[in-house]
Amino acid sequence: MAAASHPVVLTISVVLWGCHRVTYLNAGDGAMFGFMRSEIISIGTELTAGMTLDTNAAWLARRLSAVGIAAVRHVTVSDDRDSIRDAVVRAAARAGVVLVTGGLGPTADDLTREALADAAGRPLVVDEPSLTHVRGYFQRIEREMPEANRRQAYLPEGAVAIENPLGTAPGVVVRVGGSVVYAMPGVPLEMRAMYERSVEPELAAQSGGAAMVTRTVHSFGASEARVAELIEDLMVPGREPTVGITACDAVISVRVIARGATRDEAETVAEAEAGVVRDRLGSLVFGAEGETLGQAVARVLCERGLTVATAESCTGGLLAKHLTDVSGSSAYYLGGFVTYGNEAKSELTGVPASMIAEHGAVSEAVGVCMAEGCRVRLGADLGLSTTGIAGPTGGTADKPVGLVYVALATASGTIARRLLVNSELGRGVIRQRSCNAVLNLLRRYVIWDLEIGTDGGV
Ligand code: AMP
Ligand code: MG
Repeated sequence: MAAASHPVVLTISVVLWGCHRVTYLNAGDGAMFGFMRSEIISIGTELTAGMTLDTNAAWLARRLSAVGIAAVRHVTVSDDRDSIRDAVVRAAARAGVVLVTGGLGPTADDLTREALADAAGRPLVVDEPSLTHVRGYFQRIEREMPEANRRQAYLPEGAVAIENPLGTAPGVVVRVGGSVVYAMPGVPLEMRAMYERSVEPELAAQSGGAAMVTRTVHSFGASEARVAELIEDLMVPGREPTVGITACDAVISVRVIARGATRDEAETVAEAEAGVVRDRLGSLVFGAEGETLGQAVARVLCERGLTVATAESCTGGLLAKHLTDVSGSSAYYLGGFVTYGNEAKSELTGVPASMIAEHGAVSEAVGVCMAEGCRVRLGADLGLSTTGIAGPTGGTADKPVGLVYVALATASGTIARRLLVNSELGRGVIRQRSCNAVLNLLRRYVIWDLEIGTDGGV
């Protein structure tokens, strides 16, 4: 699809210390597929030095997508006047809307105002209403206004101030080339308040109700590459809606981003595409949006009225935590044992000492026995177990770090799985993956009638 090339006219109507001032700015060719594109510039040496994490850009990008504006680039710049000017000029040459945060404070290292004036090719001039606001701020807190705060009332000539309901630094709206640049304070609370109150309504009005909607489908049990193979044709660059993959603790999530002239339209497209993804991935899919594997399992157990008990070795209670993270978990989780030592395995879940001597504590036989033992002793429908070597010490040639057995005991038999997690990923990941694997085993058994003794993936 060719990019639309008609110029977009942005109406900037900013509430300015009580009076409503309206300016018309031409946003230039900022549209792609009929939707506005934006770039985000985060300013601050603390950000480029890695001392403060840039949360503003991520927050803004998510909010922009809600009003149908794609954030196509994030740039982080130190408190250097020329670097800020260059970043603004470049972003403005590419995108119809540029959002800048940081560097609007009163101190000598806050240079965003000066840099914006440079980028716009205008001098800085005092904005009387802004000066009144800054003065009023100090009067309200009964302090004398430091001379440095006067700087905050300066704007590039022709720019418009944006009210800061929480602090002294007003924001700035200024036209640079064919683009509209919104500069907001770096302090996340102030930035968010200003964006929600003054900037977002403008942008929403400009995008005329357009929206971007995201749907996420979570899967477990296949590698990222395998999942990508199953939806390869949906991931072709430039295709709409866009489909991408992320991976975390072996949970592979497919994200669909759809754009529409209205929210309803975007939602319909996103939902249809998510449906295609769910069909392709079949039994690998466990949930959507913010749902974790533990929550998905909780939902499934509640729906079927099943109860579960646990016996954990290498996960040391993490599995019980996942099962009880969900409110109302007493409906399905009866309890469990952390059987870390051999004697605990024998005493609490009935694993014969001879079995441990013969196979070792990390073995399929012991894992099966633990799952069956906790199921019977706690009178649950299902029993889950984990036994493995989480490392980094304790591995041997035939039982390396990362080797884990998980098992699911049912009234009609027990299913066990052997996992080999890359030991380099570390103890935390090995334990987390063990939990995910056994939770997924349960989910597949309950929903997909995984047969006892079959050896499919977990
Ligand atoms: P500034 O407006 O540049 O004076 O920023 C004030 C403070 O806000 C900084 O010291 C940071 O702690 C915080 N801050 C600035 N930019 C960001 C950002 N992009 N993400 C999160 N915090 C920020
Ligand atoms: Mg700063």
